Amino acid sequence: MNRNLHAPLLSGMHAGFAGRRRVLRLGAAAGTAMWLAGCAAMAPRARAQVVVVGAGWGGLGAVRQLARAELADITLIEPNDRFMSCPMSGHYVAGHGMMDELVHGYQRVDALPGVRRVRDRVRAIERERREVVLAGGSRLRYDYLVLSPGVEYMEETLPGYAAAREQLPVGFRAFEHPAVRAQVDRFLEQGGTFVISTPKPPYRCPPAPYERAMLIAEQVRKRGTRGRVLVLDANPAPTPAPTAQPILGALRGYADVLEYRPNVDLRAVDGARRVLVTGDGELRFDHANLVLPMRAHALIRQSGLGERWADVQLPNFQAKADERIFVIGDAQGSPQPKSGQVAFGQGRQVGEEIARRVRGEAAPTASSEIELPLGICWAAASHNTAINVNVVTTMLPGEAPKLRFSVDPQPSERSGSASWSWARGMWRTMLG
Ligand SMILES: Cc1cc2nc3c(=O)[nH]c(=O)nc-3n(C[C@H](O)[C@H](O)[C@H](O)COP(=O)(O)OP(=O)(O)OC[C@H]3O[C@@H](n4cnc5c(N)ncnc54)[C@H](O)[C@@H]3O)c2cc1C
Repeated sequence: MNRNLHAPLLSGMHAGFAGRRRVLRLGAAAGTAMWLAGCAAMAPRARAQVVVVGAGWGGLGAVRQLARAELADITLIEPNDRFMSCPMSGHYVAGHGMMDELVHGYQRVDALPGVRRVRDRVRAIERERREVVLAGGSRLRYDYLVLSPGVEYMEETLPGYAAAREQLPVGFRAFEHPAVRAQVDRFLEQGGTFVISTPKPPYRCPPAPYERAMLIAEQVRKRGTRGRVLVLDANPAPTPAPTAQPILGALRGYADVLEYRPNVDLRAVDGARRVLVTGDGELRFDHANLVLPMRAHALIRQSGLGERWADVQLPNFQAKADERIFVIGDAQGSPQPKSGQVAFGQGRQVGEEIARRVRGEAAPTASSEIELPLGICWAAASHNTAINVNVVTTMLPGEAPKLRFSVDPQPSERSGSASWSWARGMWRTMLG
């Protein structure tokens, strides 16, 4: 069992790391207080207390950078006992038996200097007190808080969805993929119409719904399933715009088993009748993967850090409402793409920013163009081919960020194999 799991938390004070720093017991006798006052002048400077929420792509970037600086006690809060990757999950969802590749333990992260992982869920953030409240009831004090809790689905935008949730899993968060895989397995066995819907942006990993559609369509062909994949896109074409033609071209490669419909306005779903209500009337389906519109995790709104997405200032991802809080990854509302590579890079950058503040160094003054974390994304068009999407974000001081895309014109085996090298490299960097 992980040595960090269920470690006792100290309410209303900094949690202790044995041998690393002094633990002060509140409510100590007056004599002890005097002794402490006498020692204060000799005491080493206290290490900063940093709490990181979410051990996904963004949170792990922050933790690794902070651990490298060795200036802080880092508490990483995550409800899951393992990491599961969304990138590359499309292959598993479409029927390839590769769950082992996607799931990784946190052992190496736990061994990083100054890191303690707590298996729990943050229930609330009390900004005035600089404390997070865990579902288990404990409280953790912080000097700096890094939030990377990811996204939630806007179920209320599709009447009928909540009642059909079990039957229609979205599968755009870790550990939800097996439920989508079960739908796909049934479809590949029984045939019929498999609907995949795509919401309007911004949402996590824009190429992912098309990728899923193509990987499933490949299996329909391979297994001779008597069925078709129907992609219902809320957009006039795949987004962001530079990816539209390459993805449309790749979708056309499956024209015998896949139909793409743009500008579809999904208005309701009736899970019992297996009917979707669209702006153009009712549509029957046999199996479906409805990718709902998304927003930041509820903690962001509940803590007054933003509405749909967290309001952050660039280039440092500090919450506009609170200089002690940084929000990174898909929960933050900058124009950067919602991708794992970007989230990890933002985490590293924020880790360095916190280390700089702890060291008491002045903020660097940017007079020329700066680069925000790079985005690298992949849209698999088959089990062996992919379209590579790279995004460079630059900013001039005082101006809005500019995004420059470079996208493969069509899928290739080269990008297919590069996507695996990229993913394995990232998993090693994050978790190895
Ligand atoms: C199908 C698919 C394919 C993708 N392909 C790519 C790709 O090719 N390249 C790429 O770069 N990106 C890709 N992505 C996007 C990538 O997965 C996300 O952008 C990335 O996961 C965002 O990182 P994050 O840290 O914001 O959120 P996450 O990685 O989701 O991490 C959030 C973490 O917070 C935890 N958490 C949630 N609530 C709480 C709470 N209350 N308390 C504590 N912890 C909590 C969660 O358990 C989770 O571990 C893909 C996504 C999908 C769905």
